[in-house]
Amino acid sequence: MKWNLPERKITWAELWRMEPFRISFMLRSVYDTLPSPSNLHQWGLIEEPSCKLCGERGTMAHLLSGCKVALTQGRYRWWHDKVLKHLAEILDIERRKKRPSTTEAKQIRFVREGDTGHATNSQQHFILDKGSEWNMRANIGKKLVFPDGVHTTLRPDIVVWSQSSKMIVAIELTVPWEERCEEAYQRKKEKYTELMTTCRERGWKAWLFPVEVGCRGFPAQSVWRMLQAMGIVGKARKTAVRQRYGIAEMI
Ligand SMILES: [Zn+2]
Repeated sequence: MKWNLPERKITWAELWRMEPFRISFMLRSVYDTLPSPSNLHQWGLIEEPSCKLCGERGTMAHLLSGCKVALTQGRYRWWHDKVLKHLAEILDIERRKKRPSTTEAKQIRFVREGDTGHATNSQQHFILDKGSEWNMRANIGKKLVFPDGVHTTLRPDIVVWSQSSKMIVAIELTVPWEERCEEAYQRKKEKYTELMTTCRERGWKAWLFPVEVGCRGFPAQSVWRMLQAMGIVGKARKTAVRQRYGIAEMI
């Protein structure tokens, strides 16, 4: 397994908390021993190794993230939105927290709950601490409207913004096959570069975070970095990335 992901290891503690069925499913998804058409064919159990939806070879990678018919039918969207909802909930709690005023923030060195404080010799720079009165929209079920002054047809999955501080954070989630997280990151980064430039030209401070949670449930490092930048650190962040949005949830 050569996934460039920090959280790919399943710890004993985690296994201990899982129900037997989920353990089995998780391990089988990681080691590709689930009964995909391709595997069933290899085991001599079926004649055709093809995907029932499109006819291409039915490997697990294909079924979970590569089937064009499943994509058109919105089968992957359901899963994407489930992960998105979870991330949105975490960010929504964070953006509602009372922030120190900008002047206070400049004077005080503060340490978040759950942090040791050792690494905070210089002032921390969480994005949400830089502004106030943060709003948030997530692209779940309804059309996302970008704040005034920025016109775009692009719809990032989550937008957090402060009108008074003229700051905007765009978060775009992809749920790819684990090995394709880096590729997805680069693709999404490029897709939104122009929008970020437009925001900045209109006088907004803008940040973009493409994040990936692999379709077998393993969050990429980009998720960790985004949470950190937004100020979700310590225990809260650990809990967030340890959440397994695995395919076990899907069946
Ligand atoms: Zn297919």
